[in-house]
Amino acid sequence: MTASSQSVEPFDLVIFGGTGDLAVRKLLPALFHRFVDGQIPASSRIVGVAREALDDAGYRAQLREALIGICEAGKLDVFLQQVFYRPLDARKDDGWDDFAAFIGAQPEHIRVFYLSTSPELFVDICNRLGQYKLNQGASRVVLEKPIGRDLASANQINDAVGKVFSESQTFRIDHYLGKETVQNLLVLRFGNALFEPLWNSAHIDHVQITVAETLGVGHRGAYYDRAGALRDMVQNHILQLLCMVAMEPPSSLAPDAVRDEKLKVLHSLKAIDDSNAAQLTVRGQYRAGVAEGASVPGYPDELGNSKSNTETFVALKAEIANWRWAGVPFYLRTGKRLPSRVSEIVVTFKPVPHSIFSADAGQLAQNRLVLRLQPDEGVKLWLTIKHPGPGGLRLRHVPLDMSFAEAFGVQQPDAYERLLLDVVRGNPTLFMRRDEVEAAWRWAGPVLAAWSASGEAPRPYTAGSWGPSAAVALIERDGRTWNEDSE
Ligand code: NAP
Repeated sequence: MTASSQSVEPFDLVIFGGTGDLAVRKLLPALFHRFVDGQIPASSRIVGVAREALDDAGYRAQLREALIGICEAGKLDVFLQQVFYRPLDARKDDGWDDFAAFIGAQPEHIRVFYLSTSPELFVDICNRLGQYKLNQGASRVVLEKPIGRDLASANQINDAVGKVFSESQTFRIDHYLGKETVQNLLVLRFGNALFEPLWNSAHIDHVQITVAETLGVGHRGAYYDRAGALRDMVQNHILQLLCMVAMEPPSSLAPDAVRDEKLKVLHSLKAIDDSNAAQLTVRGQYRAGVAEGASVPGYPDELGNSKSNTETFVALKAEIANWRWAGVPFYLRTGKRLPSRVSEIVVTFKPVPHSIFSADAGQLAQNRLVLRLQPDEGVKLWLTIKHPGPGGLRLRHVPLDMSFAEAFGVQQPDAYERLLLDVVRGNPTLFMRRDEVEAAWRWAGPVLAAWSASGEAPRPYTAGSWGPSAAVALIERDGRTWNEDSE
């Protein structure tokens, strides 16, 4: 399941927020790479929309400057001929007639409206698209995260978008699901006879999911301070990864077959609320320290608000109350200003029931399957083998290493490359259905409420460390440790 090189039907892809960080850093480079692979039909148009007063030439020049370092100049110039710009304020009337006429000029095209703006604009944009009947025919809308900040606001957005676009036209993107490793998790689990018989509480000791960033909050402080790590990372990305690890085998890869199984996992998560949040969760907020060799300020200074109660780190112990997973903890952690940028899933198997080896052979270690999503995507299976050569029988713990880039000698496509073309194809398998988003908020809401009711401030941690010491205690209390490879 890599980004297939098959061409797709001609399409118009409109990026609301076309001058923004996500569009310029991720979406347009992804489209460029698909263009270079010959997947974008010549009549397709990519249309940037924002308030800035630009014309096509001005937008192309802006993109050229931004992309020239990562895209080959000759091909970039050809690609940019398929890129256009229309200035619009989502909240004002001006420009919409012209925009609608421009998009309407190619009615046979698939239309994708990618809302890469603040979610406060989603409803206005969808209402206008409806008013101009641009939601009809083969039209789809892509919603970026965050979809709301709680269940009520997510419902509000989903209800309003739902009045204009049907659920089958609505693609809620979580780019973690487009990552090669996540696709590979499906194939490892369901394409090999080896893993699935062991994939349960009888054989798996615990699962860890880490999403660590070295960056601080940077210029996204205003957004981040209203969100925090649980809303920004756990409610969406990390829960989606947990679902991919924990779901039952779907009967096929049909979109609803996969999403039905993910939903069952979300419904089976044990509640974390007032009664147990203090034992099962740790919140942190970074203070001044050293990141990537340089001194960096703490979160309150970066934000310019010493009273912020927002967590920039969270570690928690989740449990899934069903037959397959009863008693298997899922330790989840994410944070900003951690020592390395790494996202990974670690599945640790139970120890062998009895060791036949003498003490001087060395310690038997538990098998681990490590799925790394970034920076270098790949899978490692840690096994115990005999140290080669004479000198007695000594045990060695070694990884069967499958770094995708090295093994296949190809650059791995960015997740957005695959997902953007899946939208054009109308394949929602790797997108979140409305009920999944709601179920994730239903689980996250009581955690947030418990934190707020406790009135406790997040624990400080030094930038460049692995979070508050309580996060280490959270897992060590159970006689386990965070995976040291990532540290
Ligand atoms: P950004 O850099 O602030 O860009 C916002 C874009 O929206 C700009 O192009 C802006 O251009 C446009 N815009 C603002 N108000 C508008 C209006 N009234 N009408 C039309 N256009 C308007 O934000 P971003 O970082 O790209 O993020 C966009 C969305 O993606 C957010 O929801 C964010 O949470 C989500 N997201 C971002 C990232 C990321 O890596 N950046 C990752 C995941 C999700 P003008 O000011 O010229 O109008």
